[in-house]
Amino acid sequence: MSTPATFAFEPNSAPVPATERAGRIADPAFGRVFTDHMALVRWSEDKGWHDAKITARTTLTVDPATAVLHYAQEIFEGLKAYRHDDGSVALFRPRANAARFRDSARRMAMPELPDDLFIGSIEALVKADADWFPAVEGGSLYLRPFMIASEVFLGVKPAGEYLYMVLASSAGSYWKGGVRPVSLWVSHDYSRAAPGGTGAAKCGGNYATSLVAQQEAIRRGCDQVVFLDATERKWIEELGGMNIFFVFDDGSIQTPPLTGTILPGITRDSILTLARDAGLTVREELYSIEQWRADAESGRLTESFACGTAAVVTPIGKVAGPDYAFTIGSGGTGQTTQRFLDGLNAVQRGRAPDPHNWLHPI
Ligand code: PMP
Repeated sequence: MSTPATFAFEPNSAPVPATERAGRIADPAFGRVFTDHMALVRWSEDKGWHDAKITARTTLTVDPATAVLHYAQEIFEGLKAYRHDDGSVALFRPRANAARFRDSARRMAMPELPDDLFIGSIEALVKADADWFPAVEGGSLYLRPFMIASEVFLGVKPAGEYLYMVLASSAGSYWKGGVRPVSLWVSHDYSRAAPGGTGAAKCGGNYATSLVAQQEAIRRGCDQVVFLDATERKWIEELGGMNIFFVFDDGSIQTPPLTGTILPGITRDSILTLARDAGLTVREELYSIEQWRADAESGRLTESFACGTAAVVTPIGKVAGPDYAFTIGSGGTGQTTQRFLDGLNAVQRGRAPDPHNWLHPI
């Protein structure tokens, strides 16, 4: 079996006309505006990875007995391509996404996609759809690689056929009208992941099970849910789609450790690196909900923020649970939070030095 080295290009014969495209990418809502093409690679037991191509983005026709529809053998990734001021295009840390995609595949008993195929699929798609970068400041092309069990059968076993695909979506500035702190609901009833479970994998099932907790957060008047550990129900883990950081009055920062129940975020890792570069004291240690509340009330904790690819850095203003509520700092956007947001944005957009070679030019 030989792994394909290049992607065959089958141009979309009916691309979105330029004037209509200009309208769609003028101020795109997140996850709603898709480009003309998609990447696709197949895997089967006998052929391995094969049939790599960039083709027209279109609907999939799937048999109702396709394994993923029943047993949720599915994983995905999320990363962005940025157009820099000089017109060049770069991905942010795609090799980290490729590695995490392999880790997720192993956890879900799926075949591991070689890193070069992962990166090659994204490069080829971004090149094909380079006209879809939004013209707005803060815009990007959001890439969604994913893999599904495509074998047609009913039965609980790893499928013998898989489909890997990449979609590209025009993304506007996440913070239209400026950064706004979010409020969090602490879920004491639902947990996201247990030891030995799939918390560290980026599989669709994790998100399906988080939705009811997110619904509860909205019902309680909060923006997002924050999960506690499944065993003791006291240690802060992460949000439904972002990691979390705490900032203290001595200038140190802390984030929960990677113990297998939270997603190893690439933004999280980048912030830890920037913080260490800046000489800050950094701790990857458990932090309890009671301590968070006590430290916020005493003033020892000055800021908290969430982080992930979509928003990069999101300040946390207020936190509420069933019988408590507290405000972080003044409830606004703290200095350290803003510094990480600006610092990461600058690297991603090619406006700051990139000592760790995080940018991957296309
Ligand atoms: N946690 C979860 C559950 C997520 O879905 C995400 C988004 N991928 C993150 C954290 C942040 O990860 P990253 O910084 O790699 O986007």
